[in-house]
Amino acid sequence: MDFGYTAEQEALRSEVRQFIAEHVTPEVVDEMHGGESGRDTSGRRGRGPLVADLFSKIGERGWLGISWPKQYGGQDGDRMSQYIVEEEFSRVGIGVGGGGSGAPAIMAAGTDEQKDYYIPKLISGEFSLALGFTEPSGGADLASLQCRAVKDGDEWVINGQKIYTSGAHTATHFYLMARTDPEAPRHRGISIFLFPMDTPGITVRPLWTIQSDPLAPPGTTYGTARTNETFLENVRVPQSALLGEENMGWYVGAMGLNLDRVGAGRYLMSVRRDEDIVNWVKENKLGDLSLAEEPAVRDKLAELWIEAQVCRLMTMRSMSIVETGGNFTYEGSAEKVWAPEHGVRTAEAISQMLGPYATLLSGSHNALEDGLYAHQLMGAFQSGINHGSVQVMRDQVSRRGLGFPRG
Ligand SMILES: Cc1cc2nc3c(=O)[nH]c(=O)nc-3n(C[C@H](O)[C@H](O)[C@H](O)COP(=O)(O)OP(=O)(O)OC[C@H]3O[C@@H](n4cnc5c(N)ncnc54)[C@H](O)[C@@H]3O)c2cc1C
Repeated sequence: MDFGYTAEQEALRSEVRQFIAEHVTPEVVDEMHGGESGRDTSGRRGRGPLVADLFSKIGERGWLGISWPKQYGGQDGDRMSQYIVEEEFSRVGIGVGGGGSGAPAIMAAGTDEQKDYYIPKLISGEFSLALGFTEPSGGADLASLQCRAVKDGDEWVINGQKIYTSGAHTATHFYLMARTDPEAPRHRGISIFLFPMDTPGITVRPLWTIQSDPLAPPGTTYGTARTNETFLENVRVPQSALLGEENMGWYVGAMGLNLDRVGAGRYLMSVRRDEDIVNWVKENKLGDLSLAEEPAVRDKLAELWIEAQVCRLMTMRSMSIVETGGNFTYEGSAEKVWAPEHGVRTAEAISQMLGPYATLLSGSHNALEDGLYAHQLMGAFQSGINHGSVQVMRDQVSRRGLGFPRG
């Protein structure tokens, strides 16, 4: 098996790197991370004129949603090219893959109208979805969700509360799980709805994370400063807001989450700091001390690098299963255990190598790399919880991968 890249793929990577060096300026990054200038006419942060212009240029080059069908704004291209483009843009915190966990679910379970309406705009970044699954009663036990959707004529009326609705303050649409049949067994009475975030009855309140004060520097993986609590009071949505069959939302949502675990973006969240620290150690000294010459440091970095390659290979395997239409069951869950736990090991090892300076947060005098490694250390732990906790993922691997009974 050849794990290398072809000359054509390497050329694509160089082209993308060149583009990023020329077009992803500090002003664009500032706008993307919510600087005041980053408000477009609808008030969405992170999508101001500079970011919109950047996305249109990326689109002109044919790099948005490369492996998605042309009919839906993609390029009918191969997954590996998409991976390479995604990998390079992920390094500067820009997603070009194709719209988060909602898009694959819409593609698989949506009506033709839903696919025509949502997919091209999700790929171009014009639309973004807030994932409304978790509730205060507990995210690991998602099937216990209480948010209710009740049919009223041609409409659904939704009432309930969601928590950790990341991006709800900037998203254009809700991708929400609600209970539609309270009498049915827990997993079978749930449906998914897609509707605009400005639908009357929705209140979004900030829920600040450990990364908010001081603000994590842009590019800190898992460094989100804000997530949200979201309240829904008599929110009326049309029948056409239903995604997939009524009461089958559990399966649609689980499939979407699983497919969203595949790709360069997710994998790089956990291994980007490996690359950073190797470069840092080669280019810098701690006082007179060259860490690059320290056997313990070299040993540890080599070990982490090998682990990072395991992450990469797991991602490649998942991509190849999806690309060839294979049965993708536990592989995404396995990645979601390995990659975040690797991210934690890296963050801890870096703080041991660099010592107390690496624990100073952004803005502190003497903070290394403006607190990047300190914020990463805090954020790494979060990565083992969000998007499916590692404990829940292990359970899925044991059941779906190894055939153990439900625990
Ligand atoms: C920063 C951040 C962003 C998030 N963004 C979103 C988002 O955009 N949309 C969204 O819907 N959700 C989001 N989440 C929610 C996330 O999916 C949940 O936090 C996660 O599913 C865990 O749920 P919980 O926090 O309610 O913890 P709990 O369900 O209370 O679990 C607490 C701990 O107990 C463990 N545990 C629970 N039950 C079991 C069991 N049966 N066996 C073994 N261990 C168990 C869990 O693994 C976890 O470690 C986000 C979370 C964070 C931290």
